[in-house]
Amino acid sequence: MNVNIKILFALIAAIGLTCSVNAFAQEDAKIEATQVRGGIYMLTGQGGNIGLFIGDDGSFMIDDQFAPLTDKIIAAVRSVGGDTPKYLINTHFHGDHTGGNENLGKAGTLIMSHHEVRERLVNGYFIGAFGMKSPPAGDAALPTLTYADNLHLHINDDTVRVIHVPSAHTDGDSFVVFEKANVVHAGDLVFNGFYPFVDGANGGSVRGMIAGVDRILALTNDDSKIIPGHGPLASRTDLQAYRDMLATAYERLLKLKNEGLSAEDAIVNKPLRDLEQRWGGGIFSGDKWISLVYPAVY
Ligand SMILES: [Zn+2]
Repeated sequence: MNVNIKILFALIAAIGLTCSVNAFAQEDAKIEATQVRGGIYMLTGQGGNIGLFIGDDGSFMIDDQFAPLTDKIIAAVRSVGGDTPKYLINTHFHGDHTGGNENLGKAGTLIMSHHEVRERLVNGYFIGAFGMKSPPAGDAALPTLTYADNLHLHINDDTVRVIHVPSAHTDGDSFVVFEKANVVHAGDLVFNGFYPFVDGANGGSVRGMIAGVDRILALTNDDSKIIPGHGPLASRTDLQAYRDMLATAYERLLKLKNEGLSAEDAIVNKPLRDLEQRWGGGIFSGDKWISLVYPAVY
């Protein structure tokens, strides 16, 4: 996530302004492709990090940021030898990961997701924490292939495992494992280096985030490369540190909650004081993060 969108998110959260998903996109955003390993790339621009896998069977993409960026994203895919994606996975429904769906669906891309992602897109959604509102998506934007648990794609000389985890960042999260390449796209289970958004109002929970990260830890090793939903490319060491932070925060907040403290009272206790320097410099300060995730701590 770049600084501009961070500020925008913070602003919108602060003043409670309601705006549509695509109002978050900036026309001047630049898309950059970074090679992760072999035919796998990470594309950054605005919104969630995109995963890309190019090869003889066609281009496979994970998430698609915002609609106004689709042309630039496809140009970036072509610049590294790929083409308009043949396949797309949505790691979850949030607009900074699915905003390009309609453009890609119209271009012939096969869109896939967990069942719940399609449901949210069909019905439209509201993310109270950011005042982000999205009307029901058009037909072309909807995933045509949906799954309950797992999906395997056998493409480009690798096995791509798409794995659902329940009640984590939302209620429809998936992460993606490239088995041979030893690369993972974590979706928004991982914000590398800062406190993550947990969408409690749409089925997310901090405990589920930790369980999701544990699933990724179990499938990775020191040689793994992890594309986070937000933040820079991560190693397994980064992931372990993030997991430890989440577990510590969860334990402390749950204790305060069980003692009957409200979010406001919990913040007065400064329960995350020692974590602030390392984790509080992203989208949320510790205080803001506590008020955001408190309902999702149980
Ligand atoms: Zn998200």
